[in-house]
Amino acid sequence: MTPATRIAEALRGRSHVLLLGHVSPDGDSLGSTLALARALWTCGQHATVGSADGVPTMYRFLPGSERIQTALPDGATYDAVVFMECSSPERAGALAARAAGVPLWVNIDHHVSNSGFGDLIDHDPAAAAVGELVYPIVREFLPTLDAGTATCLLCALLTDTGSFRYQSVAPGTLRIAADLVAAGASVAEVYEQVYENRPASALHLLGKALDRCALAEEGRVAWTVVTQAMLRETGAVMEDSEGIIGALRGIAGVEVAALFKEEPDGIRVSLRARGRVRAHVIAGAFGGGGHAAAAGFTGHGSLDDVVRQTLEVVQRELGAVSES
Ligand code: 5GP
Ligand code: MN
Repeated sequence: MTPATRIAEALRGRSHVLLLGHVSPDGDSLGSTLALARALWTCGQHATVGSADGVPTMYRFLPGSERIQTALPDGATYDAVVFMECSSPERAGALAARAAGVPLWVNIDHHVSNSGFGDLIDHDPAAAAVGELVYPIVREFLPTLDAGTATCLLCALLTDTGSFRYQSVAPGTLRIAADLVAAGASVAEVYEQVYENRPASALHLLGKALDRCALAEEGRVAWTVVTQAMLRETGAVMEDSEGIIGALRGIAGVEVAALFKEEPDGIRVSLRARGRVRAHVIAGAFGGGGHAAAAGFTGHGSLDDVVRQTLEVVQRELGAVSES
């Protein structure tokens, strides 16, 4: 039995499945969670999807996203919980506490930094998206895939692969994508909904952030910030910062791109790496995690302090890969 068939078998017949994605949700977390929930719903099973930070505007086109809950009713009980794209249970944020006492924990993830928690684990760091791992589980429930579920899975794959451009894209990724398109999902539509449906304020924010971009380590590092003041000046919200870090990563010679976002609870740091540099090692030094190519953490202290401390660890990682 594969991990996918084992998970499908364990979820079948459960009376109430709770599916949790991670905080600051992305297209993979939301698309994968929703696809599995839709499969359960189609088979007449009771399932609830929780996202502690809700659904960013750019993902509200996902069919079924209006059923995603940011808080769960007090009396509700569950007989299985699925942690989607959570390297540890805490990544589900405030909703993680609702998993206490649930008899079956399922952990589906592709982050190298996954802690291996749970009763049933499907962890594959080689998967380009969690959507790739969820696809065969969904197919156990839906031998015939509907266009809505295919759209959720295509969103997972497309957003986590930089629109099928990253190193992580393998023949299997494209084979699944082909199946999803054959089932009625559209690459053009998902791309347009996610990336070409932005408020003008997001572009103004991008302009300001690029204006403040600084280089370090002889051009091997590029970094910038999004402050609360920049949000006020542009009328943008933090979720509009999507796209900034990708632009930094595209600078010739840059091996590490870092974006520092000033949030009420700390400084959210996003890291992207190219070549042999391991972003998850840098993030891990601050209690975060992720992949070699993309990772993140929350820093505490002033923006200047977090920037300085991060650049020190980045310098160490650059040194480590230069020597090896
Ligand atoms: P992003 O920069 O897009 O928020 O995150 C990049 C990658 O790192 C994503 O795969 C995300 O799940 C992971 N990541 C971001 N922040 C954290 C964190 O605080 N802890 C862990 N474990 N992973 C994170
Ligand atoms: Mn992912």
